[in-house]
Amino acid sequence: MQYDVVVIGGGAAGLSAATVLARARRAVVVVDAGEPRNAPARHTHGFLSRDGVEPAQLLADGRAEMIGYGGQLLADRVTGIERCEGGFVVHAQDSMLSTRAILVATGLRDILPPIAGLRAQWGIDVLHCPYCHGYEVRDTSIAVVGGDNRPFTLHQAALVRQWSADVIFFPNGIELTEQERRALAARSIRIDSEAIAQISVRAGRVRGIELENGRLVPRQTVFVGPTFVPCDELLKDLGCTLGDNSWVTVDPTGHTTVAGVWAAGNVVDSPAQLIGAAAAGSRAAIAINHYLLAQDIEQALAHG
Ligand SMILES: Cc1cc2nc3c(=O)[nH]c(=O)nc-3n(C[C@H](O)[C@H](O)[C@H](O)COP(=O)(O)OP(=O)(O)OC[C@H]3O[C@@H](n4cnc5c(N)ncnc54)[C@H](O)[C@@H]3O)c2cc1C
Repeated sequence: MQYDVVVIGGGAAGLSAATVLARARRAVVVVDAGEPRNAPARHTHGFLSRDGVEPAQLLADGRAEMIGYGGQLLADRVTGIERCEGGFVVHAQDSMLSTRAILVATGLRDILPPIAGLRAQWGIDVLHCPYCHGYEVRDTSIAVVGGDNRPFTLHQAALVRQWSADVIFFPNGIELTEQERRALAARSIRIDSEAIAQISVRAGRVRGIELENGRLVPRQTVFVGPTFVPCDELLKDLGCTLGDNSWVTVDPTGHTTVAGVWAAGNVVDSPAQLIGAAAAGSRAAIAINHYLLAQDIEQALAHG
């Protein structure tokens, strides 16, 4: 089957793009491995008019809309992309597709500090984004646990204080400068530099930070700064240019430096929330459609 567009990744970015393209009557297929980043969360927030919806429901509704306009969905994982005459061949585990253009919307992976108990509570009461879930944990006792992503963690500590007056920062190996200590103190954030043994959990909820010296610091919510790793292997293999931060660079429409290849959502933009990822997908879809239109005109002229 020759597609106009193969969209790789069926999260907010990929589904939004595919819906725009299907409505523009393009032959589009979304190939999705089915592991969206926010799957561990019970509710999503910040998506206008869909406040509180379960992550799986948001995507199920998006898939139904996209399919309703004639887009296709393939549950598969793409393993490689080859350039060929007129476009690309997309290799997935169980299928092979040829296409004129590609949108990569494969998201990112959150690498958490290796602390026992953290991953199991991820998305429940171990969080990273106060804009997503800060309101829901407002006025709870909050721990901010330092991670390898130093600038993110320090910013996060200062930030979450907006949602609670009771915040303790656990540097978890981060050496603080005197100025950073003063900035945290200015926000009434306490610092506990003891090494962390584990996140203590009871009845499925965080109950505190257990330190290596045996002390339990009671806390209801933990914020942590993950290291964000883009799922961009396909883009790198195609030779897309990387920026100074080693992330793939795109223009404002999401176009990479490789002709016919776009990228949208967390794979190229780590701070993008669902609504931002969906918007980037929509923008890329319109640019892809214009690219295909220019090709259509060129081909019609060539054939008289
Ligand atoms: C715990 C948590 C809670 C969050 N809560 C919120 C919230 O409340 N509100 C909000 O706005 N944002 C929230 N976010 C952020 C939100 O998850 C992202 O903004 C959003 O997922 C980005 O969408 P995306 O389409 O770029 O990537 P994703 O949603 O991650 O989708 C990428 C898709 O691509 C697939 N994929 C990857 N590689 C391949 C491949 N090779 N072949 C085929 N498919 C592939 C994946 O399986 C996945 O289905 C949360 C994040 C986390 C971690």
